[in-house]
Amino acid sequence: MRLLVLIFGASIGSFTFCLLTSFRNKEKFWHFCQRGSFCPFCKHSLKWFDLIPILSYLLLFGRCRYCHRVFGKSYLLWELGFASLFLYAYCEWGLSLFSFLFLAYCILLIVLSYWDLLYLSVHLFLLIAFLFLQGLSLWLGLVQFDYSTFLFCIVLSCFLYYFYKDGMGLADYFFIICSAMSLSFAKLAIYFFLASTSALIVCLFQSPDRRISKVSLPFLPFLCFAFFLCQFIL
Ligand SMILES: [Zn+2]
Repeated sequence: MRLLVLIFGASIGSFTFCLLTSFRNKEKFWHFCQRGSFCPFCKHSLKWFDLIPILSYLLLFGRCRYCHRVFGKSYLLWELGFASLFLYAYCEWGLSLFSFLFLAYCILLIVLSYWDLLYLSVHLFLLIAFLFLQGLSLWLGLVQFDYSTFLFCIVLSCFLYYFYKDGMGLADYFFIICSAMSLSFAKLAIYFFLASTSALIVCLFQSPDRRISKVSLPFLPFLCFAFFLCQFIL
């Protein structure tokens, strides 16, 4: 069973990465669903034995079977990462609703972060999916809704947006307000601390003269990282 979970996780990782790559190339979703997989370099159609997650990559040393160009390590990392996540969820909670929700959160947070890193913006569909997941968790009673935390975040976001317009994007504020739906006030404080501290550290490493005012980087990956820790680890 664990092997099946591993293969399924790796397949979902592979599918998610290919889907994101197609969006990056401005391909329509319906077209992506209709067409088969092909090599991004020589455009040769890939057969089923070229698409076995992890195994095909390792057997071909990460190269296309037909033009022998290197695909890059991203494919393998996504497949291995998703396979590990699925196996972890299965070992911890089995085939349960919580496993499903945990994986849905993880996939969404990874995609949100990756998307913001690529485009410095976020697709509205992904934010609505996050709002839906938060609503579902509340409805199922898996998390508690704290009105004071939620209202505090709305007021804080309005205040920051009005006085600090260039600092964060609307998507960041939306994500923060949605996050507050499932965090206590204490966890919210940790959430802000983790997100801002991790962003500051990356800023310092990115700026050669340690002047963070010169660095521009997406904030959503740090918010996703902090939310994951507060929601599932702390
Ligand atoms: Zn090729």
